[in-house]
Amino acid sequence: MRAAVLREYGEPLDVTEVDAPDPVADGAVIELEACGICRSDWHGWQGEWGWLGLKPPEGQILGHEPAGRVIEVGGEVESVSEGDQVTVPFNLGDGTCHQCRTGHGNICENIVPLGLNEAVPGAFAEEMHVPVADHNAVRLPDGVSAVDMAGLGCRFMTAFHALAHQADLGAGDWVAVHGCGGVGLSAVHIAAALGGNVVAARSTTCPEK
Ligand SMILES: [Zn+2]
Ligand SMILES: [Zn+2]
Repeated sequence: MRAAVLREYGEPLDVTEVDAPDPVADGAVIELEACGICRSDWHGWQGEWGWLGLKPPEGQILGHEPAGRVIEVGGEVESVSEGDQVTVPFNLGDGTCHQCRTGHGNICENIVPLGLNEAVPGAFAEEMHVPVADHNAVRLPDGVSAVDMAGLGCRFMTAFHALAHQADLGAGDWVAVHGCGGVGLSAVHIAAALGGNVVAARSTTCPEK
């Protein structure tokens, strides 16, 4: 399969042939149809996140906002099957710890960030492997386009959790969004959908790229 591979930080990705993944017993392989490009990819591409333990090694496939269809599952997978449309969260959980079992897989005790760690090659590729697919492969209804799904697992769910759950935003509330990147623009969409009055300001710290 083809994939966009990181060879040198800050240099163009190498679109090349790599081995296609096979599912482990609890994993699934997705044929990718779309993937968002996120600021976190930019940090990984620049090699900036060593202090977080998230400096991807040479040969890493970045990309963590995928959408696609399941094409193969391991023998232990029960929640998704071939042909299902799925997205995948940025922060993969183990599905078994306290955080995962209480709905907070984004802060799993054994968290692995998709696409920034050699254990989980990312989604700038024709196919990707999802470990612990019963937890990490999120089935979506048919009829939603892959482009609309891409980003749900990162920028949209981050903004949704902040506004709907943490802030409990309601109709008529005012919202100030500082910074209009992936999460910020998603926050604008979601705040408006929740009935909020939105004021958004572009961050002055973003480089002119
Ligand atoms: Zn992202
Ligand atoms: Zn967990």
